[in-house]
Amino acid sequence: MSSINPFENALAQLSRATVIKSFPAEFLTQLESPNREVHVSIPVKMDDGTLRVFHGYRVEYNNARGPYKGGIRYHQDTDISEVKALAFWMALKCAVANIPMGGGKGGITLDPKTLSKTELEGLSRGYMRRLSDIFGPEKDVPAPDVNTTPEMMDWMNDEYTKITGDARGAVITGKPLGKGGSEGRGPATGLGGFYVFDALREKMNLPASCTVAIQGMGNVGGFAAKFFTEAGHTVVAMSDSKGGIYKADGLKYDEVENYKKEHGSLAGFPGAKEITQAELLTLDCDVLVPAALENQITEENAGNIKAKVVLELANGPTTTPADDILFGKGIHVVPDILANSGGVTVSTYEWEQNMKGESWTEADVNAKMKESLNREAIAIFDASVEHKTDMRRAAFIVALERIAKAMGY
Ligand code: NAD
Repeated sequence: MSSINPFENALAQLSRATVIKSFPAEFLTQLESPNREVHVSIPVKMDDGTLRVFHGYRVEYNNARGPYKGGIRYHQDTDISEVKALAFWMALKCAVANIPMGGGKGGITLDPKTLSKTELEGLSRGYMRRLSDIFGPEKDVPAPDVNTTPEMMDWMNDEYTKITGDARGAVITGKPLGKGGSEGRGPATGLGGFYVFDALREKMNLPASCTVAIQGMGNVGGFAAKFFTEAGHTVVAMSDSKGGIYKADGLKYDEVENYKKEHGSLAGFPGAKEITQAELLTLDCDVLVPAALENQITEENAGNIKAKVVLELANGPTTTPADDILFGKGIHVVPDILANSGGVTVSTYEWEQNMKGESWTEADVNAKMKESLNREAIAIFDASVEHKTDMRRAAFIVALERIAKAMGY
């Protein structure tokens, strides 16, 4: 992660939005800090018999609209500032998506690639043991995020059931199918991002067939590539943490993924040109999709961005000074709290199914998500026109109105 403090960036976004529409000072003061932040130490027995202690966090930001909701990230750069920023954005995102949830986020500081599967299971179960008193279907419902998987959610759910006896599965979402997971949850963030884009494409003056560059090819970037391609757009570039590739007539995601699995990186992908991270961000294309980590579009590179639209599928990929530069250039930024809200929307459907003991089909899940995201995307676009501002500030305003109402302001 870069040296930009994500929580300061989040608070800067808040104050910029509230210049455009004012809110009661008491309400805003409360939103400047989370309701609760918890630090935990998690002892894990390693495969070689030694004991290591890992440091983890859970931030419960705001629950005025429902139980705290937000993923758990395993990353070597994860710290409390990042988790606080992510929890704050979750509170806003759930309000933008208009789902009955508040905002929270969790994380553990580690590089998961350095742990064996048994060690990761010990760590995931240990995290749940430390926090089982604050998690709960009506209190705080975590989910996957960067480097965490459905299998890890299953370990945590199982640990929670052992401790509390509650076997509904509603304490955590993103579980595997057949173990309380929802149909459609895996692709939901990428698909939802595509639905948001599609609902706004004409309003943003984009052609029916666009060129798309995607940074990051994990769960979110990978599914985004699939759905953009299926809808007739051309994914011209993709990247992972090691570098990227470019192919003017389009990359097929499954071929890229298989190549990466076999070779460990994208370097040497047949027919494609190798490009750097920096080159991917400044490619001449219609849509740039950051789908990796925070602070990728900064004042250093924003001036060189040539895409007409930035669809933020990662959380916090654009800094506040970069927002101003992009806005000045007439580039539409579809903000993270709208663009990637498909994930938490379907997570909430999973929670609802678990609470009611139901199981919905993928077609039903996708249709419900599409209808909801279409409606909210257009509401945010219209709010940006009404307030003569960018979609980030418009999304903040809409979210703040909803949270303020729930808090009685
Ligand atoms: P993931 O762990 O599956 O994938 C992350 C990807 O980013 C990997 O391909 C990795 O190689 C790549 N990456 C890391 N650093 C990079 C760099 N500097 N340049 C290019 N690529 C880089 O994670 P994910 O679940 O796909 O999440 C990606 C982003 O989307 C995160 O910001 C996350 O918070 C956000 N998000 C995820 C979900 C979800 O449902 N998974 C929901 C909403 C938002």
